[in-house]
Amino acid sequence: MSDEKRVAVVTGASRGIGKAIALRLAADGRHVVLVSRSEGPLAEVRGLIEEAGGTASTCAVDVGDREGLAAAIGIIIKEHGRLDILVNNAGITRDNLSLRMSDAEWDEVLNVNLTSAFVAIRAAARAMMKQKFGRIVNIASTSGLVGNAGQANYAAAKSGLIGLSKTIARELGGKGVTCNVIAPGFIVTDMTSNLPADVTNKVKDAMAIKRLGEPGDIAAAVVYVTSDEAGFLTGQTIAVDGGMTMV
Ligand code: NDP
Repeated sequence: MSDEKRVAVVTGASRGIGKAIALRLAADGRHVVLVSRSEGPLAEVRGLIEEAGGTASTCAVDVGDREGLAAAIGIIIKEHGRLDILVNNAGITRDNLSLRMSDAEWDEVLNVNLTSAFVAIRAAARAMMKQKFGRIVNIASTSGLVGNAGQANYAAAKSGLIGLSKTIARELGGKGVTCNVIAPGFIVTDMTSNLPADVTNKVKDAMAIKRLGEPGDIAAAVVYVTSDEAGFLTGQTIAVDGGMTMV
């Protein structure tokens, strides 16, 4: 790579894990395009990156909107003339026991957590193949590895990301494009802030490392997997979960 900066897209970058990933990638010299639905929080993250001497831009789009997301990725590629790193991190939960789960709860979670990753990858793949370089990371969950009562939709979507990633790894590997999964365990963010103490204590008991995860724990893994030197790592799922699953 010459002096040109690598360009990274991070979805769900307005807070939590995505924000931490964006800050780390920018600190490592990538130009980061911050994606989520809300322009205000994205602008704040961009401000933090710029204050630290990095560069970023924002793109407010609902990743559940297939046409909108594909168009946004197309515009980003056109503007920058390249796209090197794609982190599909945006995600939601709509938990319910399977017998009570509505079609809407199922569809929304599959659409935002799984279909969006496919749509973004399809929109980015041609540019990455042409460059003969690409790093795709899909943020799954340990729920997708071992299941979780009340999360049939979420676990199915996260498991789906693993099959999708292995397939993309096989399809694009010959062109210098890798595709991997990071599966976080319990990470302290807005998504997990409402869980009662007895649940978080149970989680801690099941872990080898007796603390809850921080967004930075996931960002550190993403930094490695998306680095130039990680070109021989593809189709893998790395659980960053304090040793909770050890599958
Ligand atoms: P948060 O709820 O803190 O943040 C979610 C992010 O996704 C926000 O930036 C939100 O932005 C964005 N987002 C949600 N829906 C959409 C949408 N339709 N279009 C665009 N952006 C959207 O979640 P976390 O940081 O905790 O989670 C990040 C990822 O990590 C998710 O995929 C989650 O499933 C996964 N994960 C998290 C774990 C945890 O313990 N926290 C454990 C395992 C996996 P906005 O609302 O501004 O659109």
